[in-house]
Amino acid sequence: MAEFAVVEPGSVVEVLDLLARYGEEAKLVAGGTWVTLVLRQGLLWPSLLVSLRRVPELAGIAVDEAGNLRLGAMARLRSVETSPLVRERLPVVAETCREVANVRVRHQATIGGNLCDADYASDPPALLAALDARVVAVSQRGRREISARDFIVGHYQTVLEPDELVTEVIVPPLPPEAGAVYLKYRTRSHEDRPCVGVAAVVVPDSDGRLAGVEVVVGAVAERPQRLPEVLDAVVGRALDDATIAEIAERYAAGIEPLSDLRGSAWYRTEVIRVFVERALRIARERAR
Ligand SMILES: Cc1cc2nc3c(=O)[nH]c(=O)nc-3n(C[C@H](O)[C@H](O)[C@H](O)COP(=O)(O)OP(=O)(O)OC[C@H]3O[C@@H](n4cnc5c(N)ncnc54)[C@H](O)[C@@H]3O)c2cc1C
Repeated sequence: MAEFAVVEPGSVVEVLDLLARYGEEAKLVAGGTWVTLVLRQGLLWPSLLVSLRRVPELAGIAVDEAGNLRLGAMARLRSVETSPLVRERLPVVAETCREVANVRVRHQATIGGNLCDADYASDPPALLAALDARVVAVSQRGRREISARDFIVGHYQTVLEPDELVTEVIVPPLPPEAGAVYLKYRTRSHEDRPCVGVAAVVVPDSDGRLAGVEVVVGAVAERPQRLPEVLDAVVGRALDDATIAEIAERYAAGIEPLSDLRGSAWYRTEVIRVFVERALRIARERAR
């Protein structure tokens, strides 16, 4: 393994100063579950590792006056999963974090690290895109909010600049009548990453028609897949079995999946059809 120095700054200001000075020579470490693996494999050779574990501002889980759930970038997936606040306000976020790996990994891995490693076979990014969450990135140049739908741009690639730090993820509240779910399909061990992951949200109007619908499919391509033309076409329609089947069919036809050890492209297309349909039925049951 290459030689590098490790620093543990105690504030966001110090982290930003280090990122501004070292640029791509510095590598942030959150839970370290991904960074450690790539360092061992010799795929990264930073001169400086910047640990975030002593930065208290990054670890919180809170709800603001507008009802947004605010997950600090260093919130551990296990903390999100078990947070009474998250379970009360947006239980689907807790449910999705519980689907990641095993409890040991979830005690270590963070929500910020999960988004920033941009692995295509991850669970939270699809849900956060379906919920229209925003990722807050700061640098010495300022602060910006990035839609979770635009944050991951390719395999292990995000829109972040080398001097930017993700400080939190802001998840807007769902209307009380909405139903939401994340379904994970694994083909190997119970602890494995997803072969296919589907996040679905339905918002019925007072006549039981679709006021809003979201479907995002993860782990099938280099970034989570959302098909706005399919979603826009069904708004205003009854959320009956025919509409659900049509959305599932169009997602299966509209996504070009990749092949890997968890499943071939052909197989993934079949799973997308089944799991989009299943997820929408569960979201419909959960909606009021
Ligand atoms: C055995 C195993 C099984 C797994 N299974 C799953 C699974 O089923 N589903 C799933 O979704 N994931 C899974 N993962 C992935 C796991 O969730 C990730 O390793 C984890 O999310 C990375 O989080 P971390 O906090 O350890 O990040 P780190 O490894 O510390 O960092 C990851 C990347 O993000 C960058 N980074 C971290 N924090 C920030 C920040 N605040 N701002 C800017 N950049 C930042 C780092 O520089 C690095 O590039 C698995 C991992 C392991 C080891």
